[in-house]
Amino acid sequence: MSRILVTGAAGFLGSHLCDRLLADGHEVIGMDNRVSGQMQNLDDAFDHDRFSFHEHDVTEFIHVSGDLDAVLHLASLASPVFYREHPIKTLKVGSLGTHKTLGLAKEKDATYLFTSTSEVYGDPEVNPQPEDYRGNVDPYGPRSCYDESKRYGESLVRAYRDEHDLDVRVARIFNTYGPRMRLNDGRVIPNFVKQALMGRDLTVYGDGTQTRSFCYVSDMIGGLLALLKSDIEEPVNIGNTDERTIIDLAEIVLDVTGSDSGITHEELPPQDPQVRRPDISKAKSEIGWEPEVGLRDGLMSSIDYFNSEI
Ligand code: NAD
Ligand code: UDP
Repeated sequence: MSRILVTGAAGFLGSHLCDRLLADGHEVIGMDNRVSGQMQNLDDAFDHDRFSFHEHDVTEFIHVSGDLDAVLHLASLASPVFYREHPIKTLKVGSLGTHKTLGLAKEKDATYLFTSTSEVYGDPEVNPQPEDYRGNVDPYGPRSCYDESKRYGESLVRAYRDEHDLDVRVARIFNTYGPRMRLNDGRVIPNFVKQALMGRDLTVYGDGTQTRSFCYVSDMIGGLLALLKSDIEEPVNIGNTDERTIIDLAEIVLDVTGSDSGITHEELPPQDPQVRRPDISKAKSEIGWEPEVGLRDGLMSSIDYFNSEI
């Protein structure tokens, strides 16, 4: 059994990660300041006496008593709607929060996992994106609070590895969806499923020809844990390679939910990336992971949750 700290534990991915670690027999300390998380996501985790929760903002000094084997840093604002509303909090959690959690990992001699993002590639000029693609990010653009804080976070992780010999992992996560995303998260799948279930028109931004590749949450958690168990200290893309246009996604959501909602077009947010698909050759060959859940099956598995939230 290991003793593991998960930041962002009340969020979508953090809570699923806590559940999986607890099911695997570990002791888990969840940390979150609840800026975008919801405590109900941790209902299952609280059933275990190996789980404890600390309400704390990770941009402030972090004290955890006792040993830690791993620090998994997921805390962040993660939805474009939220991070555009809270750009300073977003920059602080990616920079100061990453620094504090790295300092804690160094103090405890723990393995450190950073949840980076496909957004480090910005609006990519190559598709799919391999890990050695250096990205196309506007440092003063409307998404830079997120993109640049994650790029800086990766750089800090690299510095702790080089200067302090910290054992590190960097997961570049691509669009992931599933139960426990907030209904008002603002990301495309909760928006579309909520709209379809409520009989409202689906809001496609722009002409909907932009693409994303959607990974179901159980696959993502499997990928993060496979990376953690590996000894790969370089960034690894974790995501599903099934690339869809957003208009195609809207039609699939209508079909899967059996909804007779229509589709309306709204303004495309500035600098919305035109394409996104992970090259996951490295994940396949070096950590032996690839996703298994198809888009329709993943959506089917999410509908009950979204329905219950409505
Ligand atoms: P989420 O918003 O559901 O969860 C993030 C959690 O972090 C929330 O519970 C929030 O309250 C917490 N948090 C934010 N700032 C904090 C702070 N200063 N101190 C303590 N807690 C804080 O988002 P998610 O989708 O679960 O994302 C988890 C991680 O994965 C994030 O780092 C995100 O950048 C990354 N990621 C997610 C996706 C995705 O598609 N879900 C894609 C790329 C990267
Ligand atoms: N999008 C959309 N309608 C919505 C929400 C999002 O068309 O109601 C689009 C958005 O413009 C982007 C894609 O869906 O092109 C994915 O957006 P999301 O916010 O989920 O994440 P991103 O990949 O942009 O970080």
